[in-house]
Amino acid sequence: NSMFSTLPETPLDEPFSVNGAYKQDCDPKKVNLGIGVYRTSDGSPWPLRVVEEAERKIYETNDVNRHEYTAISGDPGFLSLAADLVFGFGEEKGVPTSVTELERRRVVSIQTVSGTGANRLGAELLARNVRPGCVWIPDPTWANHYTIWDLAGVPKKRYPYYDATRKTFDFDGTFRTLSTSTNKNDVVILHACAHNPTGADPTKEQWKILAQLCEEKGIIPFFDLAYQGFASGDAKKDAWAIRHFFHNVHQVEFCVAQSFSKNFGLYGQRVGSLHMVLSSTATRDVPEKVLANLCHLVRGEYSMAPRGGAEIVKTVLGNEDLREKWLEDLTTMSERIQNMRHALFNELIRLGTPGDWTHVTNQIGMFTYVGLTESQVHAITERHHVYMLKSGRISISGMNENNVQYVAMAIDDVIR
Ligand code: PLP
Repeated sequence: NSMFSTLPETPLDEPFSVNGAYKQDCDPKKVNLGIGVYRTSDGSPWPLRVVEEAERKIYETNDVNRHEYTAISGDPGFLSLAADLVFGFGEEKGVPTSVTELERRRVVSIQTVSGTGANRLGAELLARNVRPGCVWIPDPTWANHYTIWDLAGVPKKRYPYYDATRKTFDFDGTFRTLSTSTNKNDVVILHACAHNPTGADPTKEQWKILAQLCEEKGIIPFFDLAYQGFASGDAKKDAWAIRHFFHNVHQVEFCVAQSFSKNFGLYGQRVGSLHMVLSSTATRDVPEKVLANLCHLVRGEYSMAPRGGAEIVKTVLGNEDLREKWLEDLTTMSERIQNMRHALFNELIRLGTPGDWTHVTNQIGMFTYVGLTESQVHAITERHHVYMLKSGRISISGMNENNVQYVAMAIDDVIR
């Protein structure tokens, strides 16, 4: 026998296993609403036009250093543009450079293996050094948060995120739980925009109250930022919550896990960064210590994050013309998703499908909790070859003009 024969069973990652089942299905009518990736109106992946232009530019420069090791912390040019995108440094007119410099010093950034790697690295740093009593995870959430914090060895608790009756963010439940049950240095996971899987976000007023609560209770916000610009088409708007925390609760130290998978369509390239935001009263030695500890973890795990995709992002964000083109590509993606939300809504209304469907157009980002039960999800896959997560989460961009009527008909059929 093998020393591995007693290994525990590990759960399959649901989006990837649903994707596998979809690929094996030979029915021509099949529709994939499982995995969170952007698809065009003919159902194909879309390398962003601006990414292709940047790739050509990089190739033409033929830099002999292009395959060299980078620093353990990553490419400084990429990191500074990545931080600017999140925090808006230098974006507001009339802010003196000295103020911006002070603000920049509150942020320690390191390149990561995309958003997942940023979540994992931040969790490990906190687990080893701050030793939080527990991490508060929204219920529901992106399932990988459980795995990530499991690996970090931090006890996990849930806060009630979703109001299934009103199909909105459950502010009262969240506020009640975080204000009565948390202790100093507990971590709270917050989706910065376009909550996965529900598509339901806090309002600005609710974010303001949550920021104050974090300050009062001494809890550590951990922002997961996987959809900046992809959600609304406006990168500034999607970073509103993080910028609010940054400018208004100066004593709160927090983490931001930034992914470029969706907003640059660079899924397999693994581009991301982790930003650690320090209190405005942290002494001058703290940023250096934080960076040294992050580098220590990275060095022992994989030495440094890959450089190819980060080079593309740096080329685009560092060039005014390409940056404009990126904003156009973001608009193309977010508008198509919005259009599909409206198309699905209109079809369900046209069919007279029982229920209130306004959440389909009110929710934001790649996903919607469409409102099917687990048995209805089973039925829609069995009878109609429509694939989605068993929670009823659908990835909107799997729909297009050719299949949205079919999807609506299938939903209608399993609901009646
Ligand atoms: N966080 C959330 C909420 C996500 O939905 C995703 C991707 O689906 C990620 C993080 C990380 O993705 P990646 O590791 O590809 O950047």
